[in-house]
Amino acid sequence: MAKGTHEPIIDKQDFDCVQKTLHQRNHKTRQLRGPNYLTGLARCGKCGAPMHVTYPGIEPKTKFKYYVCNNRYNFKSCDQDYIRANILETSVIKKIEKLSSRKDVISSLVKDYVDHNHNTLLPELEQKRKAILKELESLGTEKEKLSKWLLRNDLTPQTANYLNSQVDGFSEKEGKLQERLWEIEDQINAVHVMNYNAKEVCDQLKEFVLTFPGLQEGERKLLIDSLIKKVEVKKKEVTLYLKPPLVSLGFLSTSIAPRGIEPLFEE
Ligand SMILES: [Zn+2]
Repeated sequence: MAKGTHEPIIDKQDFDCVQKTLHQRNHKTRQLRGPNYLTGLARCGKCGAPMHVTYPGIEPKTKFKYYVCNNRYNFKSCDQDYIRANILETSVIKKIEKLSSRKDVISSLVKDYVDHNHNTLLPELEQKRKAILKELESLGTEKEKLSKWLLRNDLTPQTANYLNSQVDGFSEKEGKLQERLWEIEDQINAVHVMNYNAKEVCDQLKEFVLTFPGLQEGERKLLIDSLIKKVEVKKKEVTLYLKPPLVSLGFLSTSIAPRGIEPLFEE
């Protein structure tokens, strides 16, 4: 065998795979420390990327976990600070706790939300619906014209082929528009059947506050997922977006303590 032609025992691709697996295993071990409550929910307020939990540094600093913007972590393309996980998580829970006793705040938020849906969202959806219906109608007319043409017996095969392919194209377009129309009609119906009231929202938040401390960690994560849609993290401010049937507009723009966001290796 010529020099340098041995097959490497493990090629580059395999090596990368192994590295990945090792990395994932490592990651899994770390996850055993308990669920990260805001995984899948935390978003960078600067660039919009998801944030994930990481354990930077060497012992004893690894005992702290941080949420970090994916763009910062992977590409250094964002200058969002690392944020201590327990501080962020606690501040979110505390805010929910506080909000649950503020029926006045919730009432006005719910009102804003319902008003927004009826006065802004609904007209927008209706307009989209009308536009699609109009497009469908003109497609139908075009198709009909072509079909009539196809019935003529003086067509060359080429022309017939061409017309057929045109008809197919229209049908495909029609199918897509029809699907889009159904989606929009579903959204319109959702707004109509929606019936939020502040008391229910308050009750749900109170229920959360009461139940949360007594739950296992995994159940806590489930409860948080059922309540929160998104947590947007900015420099010194965290915004919670709650899920329907809670108010899903961004509200509760709350400042967390400045020390909530710390430079990575600060003591
Ligand atoms: Zn970012």
